[in-house]
Amino acid sequence: MDGVWDLVVVGGGPAGAAAALRAAQLRPGARVLLLDKADFPRDKACGDGIAAHGRDELALLGLPDLIDDYRPTPHLSVVSPSGVRVSATAARPNHVVPRRVFDARLVAAACARGVEVRRHRVRDLRANGGDVVVDGTLRARAVVAADGAHSAVRRLIGLPAAAARHTAIAVRGYADVPPDDDAQLIAMQKEGWPAYAWSFPIGDGTANVGFGMLLPRLHAAGRPGRDVLHGRLAELLPDRPARDLRAHHLPLSTGRPAPGAGRVMLAGDAASLINPLTGEGIYYALLSGRLAGEAAVRAAADPLPAYRRSLRGALGRHLRTTDVLARLAQSPGFIDAAIGTAAHRKEVFDLLVEVGLGAGTVPPPIALAVARRWLRDSLTRRP
Ligand SMILES: Cc1cc2nc3c(=O)[nH]c(=O)nc-3n(C[C@H](O)[C@H](O)[C@H](O)COP(=O)(O)OP(=O)(O)OC[C@H]3O[C@@H](n4cnc5c(N)ncnc54)[C@H](O)[C@@H]3O)c2cc1C
Repeated sequence: MDGVWDLVVVGGGPAGAAAALRAAQLRPGARVLLLDKADFPRDKACGDGIAAHGRDELALLGLPDLIDDYRPTPHLSVVSPSGVRVSATAARPNHVVPRRVFDARLVAAACARGVEVRRHRVRDLRANGGDVVVDGTLRARAVVAADGAHSAVRRLIGLPAAAARHTAIAVRGYADVPPDDDAQLIAMQKEGWPAYAWSFPIGDGTANVGFGMLLPRLHAAGRPGRDVLHGRLAELLPDRPARDLRAHHLPLSTGRPAPGAGRVMLAGDAASLINPLTGEGIYYALLSGRLAGEAAVRAAADPLPAYRRSLRGALGRHLRTTDVLARLAQSPGFIDAAIGTAAHRKEVFDLLVEVGLGAGTVPPPIALAVARRWLRDSLTRRP
């Protein structure tokens, strides 16, 4: 054993890098070890969309300029399941940065802050007195499990893997687009609902394009998953033939587990912190990673209760809101009504962005306006 680490972080994606960065930022000189089974740069199947809220997190981590060389994408178009379209300029622009670049920059920043980074796949974890022993050789005061959608650590600490009904699956690729294309497109689909295709231009003449749906709906299609996902993507974005196709699971926050056990804290996808309405997870990964890193150094004697409290404070109301909205969104008519309302009222559009990409909640008057429209639409649709 090489001494006791103040913090061992498993996984070097946005959640793990944020945890390591925050711990080193708050306690320079802390012994922080970041383990990842891959070397960086590495690819990760993702839409590469970084919400403005994610940039706020980067600023809190002391990296406000990390993605400044990427062009902001100010425009957002959303097409509802029955074809209602809303296009507007977002209150704050999003960015699209390939994960091969984004994640490597975060890990490099952690390294520069004194975090030790090692290539290592974690397979075992045991509580030992007041410490955690990782793979029999690494002793840590605290562990942040940020090892993604198929978290081995989550399983090792006795928490169940994400259930299929709370899991989505999506494929992403890259396609050529006009270099001046600066609008993110999300096109929802009635077939296999909830499902949507996206095109997120990067600003260099290419766009990240993809298609995602709930896992049980994919299983119900009765065809090989790859055929369904690749086929639907080609069908929905025929003018954007995609290369480098790659798929991955998205554990949605409707199925989130306890945020850890003992001295182990789960962050990001390992904690199922993906927005069930949009599939956005980078912001929640950065946020939860930051809070876990904070708890590891500020509440070193017992970090998990501190982490649970701060996570609840930051996301509790939002997560309860999206739990309810995800249930209502089982009916595509509800989403049609929400997008229809947003098409006429910019404040509703901005609110949808806050709920879908940030930590937003829904004030009662707006809930009422959407409910009224939903009711009206359902009644007018009846014979
Ligand atoms: C197709 C697709 C499109 C998406 N689009 C968007 C989008 O546009 N915007 C958005 O915000 N979110 C999007 N998401 C969600 C987003 O990708 C995730 O929420 C985000 O990557 C979570 O970050 P993370 O750090 O928790 O996990 P990850 O980014 O998955 O990182 C986990 C890390 O852990 C490592 N690891 C795994 N197991 C071990 C182990 N046993 N030992 C050591 N290391 C290990 C992996 O190598 C990896 O580096 C999308 C997801 C998918 C699948």
